[in-house]
Parts: sequence; C-alpha cells; structure tokens
Amino acid sequence: QRKMSNEVEKASKSHYNNGSETIFDKIIAKKIPADIIYEDEQCLAFNDVAPQAPVHFLIIPKKRIPMLDKCEEHDKDILGHLLLVAKKLGQSKLPKGYRLVINNGKEGCQSVYHLHLHILGGRQMNWPPG
Ligand code: IMP
Repeated sequence: QRKMSNEVEKASKSHYNNGSETIFDKIIAKKIPADIIYEDEQCLAFNDVAPQAPVHFLIIPKKRIPMLDKCEEHDKDILGHLLLVAKKLGQSKLPKGYRLVINNGKEGCQSVYHLHLHILGGRQMNWPPG
C-alpha cells in the first residue's frame, strides 16, 4: 500500500458536515488572514498555505457551497464565474500553462468542505495526477 501523504491523511479525517462553517468562511469574512490575490462580489482567490507547485492558489465562492456534489442547477452562474476567474488569473500569472483541480469527497482528497478550485503551475505538471 502507498504511504498516505499529509493531504490524504487530512482528507481521510475530514467529511461533509451539513454545510457547516469552515476555515474558508473565516477567510471570506477576513477574520483570519490569507494571502488574497483576487476578490470580487462572488469569489475570492488566495495562495494555498501548503503549495504543491511554485504557484498554487485557490478560488472559492463567497457563497457557502460545501462541495461539487452539492451544486445544483441554480449554481450554474457561480460555477461558470469561478472557471472564468481561473482563466483570467491563470492566463496572467501562468502564461505557459496551469492545472485546475477540484477535489470532491474523501477519495477525491477533499479536506476543506467549502468548494474550491486549485490552480497549480510554475513547473511542468505530470499526468496522471496521484
Ligand atoms: P482540499 O484537499 O482540496 O480540500 O484542499 C484544501 C486546501 O486548502 C489544501 O491545499 C490546504 O493546504 C489549503 N488550506 C487549508 N487551510 C488554509 C488556509 O487557512 N489558507 C490557505 N489555504 C489553506
């Protein structure tokens, strides 16, 4: 069996908790600091505290959506918006290319139950991801 990485271990201990508050709500409310790189009415982008690439930031909706599985038809606009913001930031910060990731659920390695897009780059990414 493969050794569990720190992230996998965190994800295995975390779970969907009825959409309750997470650390990302505190970042949105500016109750705890984050290295914010972009903000608009609907979303916030900030650098990941444990970067997995030279550039690694997260884009999150301000609305509390716990995970992709909980998205509904009425989340279409915010979901589209998150992707367009990812494109805008990715294109300007990582002109040679970048990777987008959404972890969903335990086996998807999700540890924070507030929807987020990971944007990774600044090095050659590999495939398949681990
Ligand atoms: P997940 O594993 O897809 O749920 O990703 C959660 C990410 O949030 C991980 O990459 C963590 O390093 C990151 N993270 C957790 N807490 C904070 C924080 O307070 N600031 C910035 N990033 C965080």
